[in-house]
Amino acid sequence: MEGHVQPPRCGLSKDAARPLRVIICGGGLGGLGAAIALRHKGHQVVVLESATSLSEIGAGIQIPPNSARVLHDYYDLGENLRAHVAVPRNIAIKRYATGTVLGRTALHPHLSEKYGSPYWLIHRADYQRILYDEAIALGARVILATSVASVDPDKPSIITTNGTEYLGDVIVGADGIRSKVREFVLPDYNNFQPSPTANCAYRATVSAELMSIDHDTAELISDPNSNAWIGHRRHIMAYPIRGGALYNLVMCHPGQAKPGVWNEPGDIQKMRETYANFDPLIRKVIDKVTTCLRWTLADLPPLPTWLSQSGKVVLIGDAAHAMVPFLAQGASMSIEDGPALAECLSRVREIEDVPKYLRVFEQLRKPRCEKMQLCSRLNGQMWHLPDGPQQEERDKGFERDDFARGESEVEQEQGENVNPWSDLNFQPWLFGYDVVTDVRRVLDQMEEQSISSYRANI
Ligand SMILES: Cc1cc2nc3c(=O)[nH]c(=O)nc-3n(C[C@H](O)[C@H](O)[C@H](O)COP(=O)(O)OP(=O)(O)OC[C@H]3O[C@@H](n4cnc5c(N)ncnc54)[C@H](O)[C@@H]3O)c2cc1C
Repeated sequence: MEGHVQPPRCGLSKDAARPLRVIICGGGLGGLGAAIALRHKGHQVVVLESATSLSEIGAGIQIPPNSARVLHDYYDLGENLRAHVAVPRNIAIKRYATGTVLGRTALHPHLSEKYGSPYWLIHRADYQRILYDEAIALGARVILATSVASVDPDKPSIITTNGTEYLGDVIVGADGIRSKVREFVLPDYNNFQPSPTANCAYRATVSAELMSIDHDTAELISDPNSNAWIGHRRHIMAYPIRGGALYNLVMCHPGQAKPGVWNEPGDIQKMRETYANFDPLIRKVIDKVTTCLRWTLADLPPLPTWLSQSGKVVLIGDAAHAMVPFLAQGASMSIEDGPALAECLSRVREIEDVPKYLRVFEQLRKPRCEKMQLCSRLNGQMWHLPDGPQQEERDKGFERDDFARGESEVEQEQGENVNPWSDLNFQPWLFGYDVVTDVRRVLDQMEEQSISSYRANI
């Protein structure tokens, strides 16, 4: 099976002990993923999304094995996704000016087999559409053109901008980095604003037809890889999406978009100038770009809590743990949140137990997501070193990749690699993580402990 090695396992289907009414604010990848997981458990789900329609904005996104596992094994969406993804053979880290490969992480079939889950590349619009269709098919109510204006954490309920109140047992804030719900969760909200990173990204796509005109650029489509050209304070991450129908570019550089504007049209001429000293091959691709968007890159500091004081409103996805995209794990963490939340809420027997299980969700997810936020930042800093002794040292570290030398040899000698995707001390934590198994293990332990302490007390 291309891009995967195992058949679907068990899904999530196990009825909730006490079905709950869950209102999810935000129908992005995190909100829709959570809707699917919660519906699998039999909870009643309403998703409120401010956009009037699902948009094409965002271009490409990577689905690493840890979130592909959720989508394939637990949501059984492998077949739907496979029709839209590209399956990369490796991630190549390249020297910005020459395109010389510094290091490579083998993906398909090596990594897919190792972790029993594929690495996929997809267009965000295809991804969101598949999750949306599945959420609807499973019985979630998704209401578009509806913005959350305020939250009453005690009821709990939300009020939309047109004054409608939605009452639930649980409110989930999945409304992204500029979350409205977060205002009602954090008492000292103003101290925990997104921090712009002094970096922007141009995002653009080039059609396969245009790529095919030129022999060199045609190869970038026909031999699918994820490529990162890294240099001082700039990099380009590029890969095919839509089964190779489009080539996706994310081009990071110093700067900020207009304050408060996170997604504005980019200036093509400035974009070309920004990468004028990059590898001629990627410049040929940039020359084919006709429109681009410019995003401010920002992340959140670790939040003191993801849970309202009432214990009934919880943050997930970018609303809780937005990160810079330098490990390609932001959406992946949002996707992992869904089944973790559903597993926790499905152990609720009495409505009074909701805060207890949401706290377990928070305790399980926060350390992993915060480590991912930090590692994403650090990876960016490492990629963006100026030319010089530190960069030369770094580049030597990249040479120890498991692709060229064979993994067993590397494992025997050392596991470390400056490239986190190849670092054998980090990679299993990153890609091998099975969120459902982990959360079930902790919940089962909790239940066993409370049964034994109950027995000890009678
Ligand atoms: C340049 C770039 C490249 C990236 N590449 C990758 C990658 O390769 N892999 C990866 O895993 N991640 C990547 N990410 C990160 C990823 O895009 C995010 O982490 C992910 O989209 C977060 O999903 P979310 O659902 O939590 O939030 P969002 O996608 O932001 O969705 C939030 C939703 O809530 C809605 N909303 C907002 N306010 C309200 C309101 N008041 N009422 C109702 N609805 C509201 C919004 O319209 C939106 O639909 C990248 C990010 C950037 C910026």
